[in-house]
Amino acid sequence: MRIDVLSIFPEMFDGVVHESILKIAQDKEVFEFHAHDLRSWTHDVHRTVDDSPYGGGAGMVMKVEPLAEAIEAITALDARKPHVIFMAPVGRQFSQAVATKYTQCERLLLVCGRYEGFDERAFDWADDCLSIGDYVLAGGELPAMVVIEAVVRLLPDVLGNADSIVEESFSASSAGLLEHPHYTRPAEFLGKTVPEVLLSGNHARIEQWRKEQAMARTKQRRPDLLI
Ligand code: SAH
Repeated sequence: MRIDVLSIFPEMFDGVVHESILKIAQDKEVFEFHAHDLRSWTHDVHRTVDDSPYGGGAGMVMKVEPLAEAIEAITALDARKPHVIFMAPVGRQFSQAVATKYTQCERLLLVCGRYEGFDERAFDWADDCLSIGDYVLAGGELPAMVVIEAVVRLLPDVLGNADSIVEESFSASSAGLLEHPHYTRPAEFLGKTVPEVLLSGNHARIEQWRKEQAMARTKQRRPDLLI
């Protein structure tokens, strides 16, 4: 999969894409990453990407011309047509189901806003518009990183143990529930013990306990997932 991002702070991605799972995915050539500076598609000496809002009000709005020009130029860099995703609090909510769906795309282009967001006409260049949650960040870079990591770790051969993505929270095979608790050595720490069933070696009992724990924890913390 190829992922491009369009941002006025492309260097923000450096640390994230060169560590851990995203680095491994690039080393395995499962994932290819390119960050682009929106200011490369401006034509004035100040490299302006924003302007004051029509109708007045606080803040600045991202201009449509550099966005449109950049998206078309970046699209043309590769024969694969990207699925263009704008990051915005007004988008539909990102989720494990959406991440799983995106693993089918050959190419994504994530567009990061700043200031008050995009001139509404820019959304004509979007195939999708995503929010990572009901809060407002200063820019779309962190949301884009969230999407990239959530999608790339699901690509075949990226994670060492393929089972870890099958059984985790929100996954279809976990019936959308939160995951059960985990424990590792030591069996006792400061008087805190590990549930006896996990030491029993009885796989059927362990499986049953995990199912019950997943359900109890989901009921308590995220009853909305059970509706
Ligand atoms: N005025 C806008 C917020 C702009 S925040 C509003 O009230 O809806 C500036 C930029 O940060 C946005 O254009 C978007 O790209 C990004 N951003 C902020 N919060 C986000 C979120 N929850 N999900 C996705 N992108 C977000």
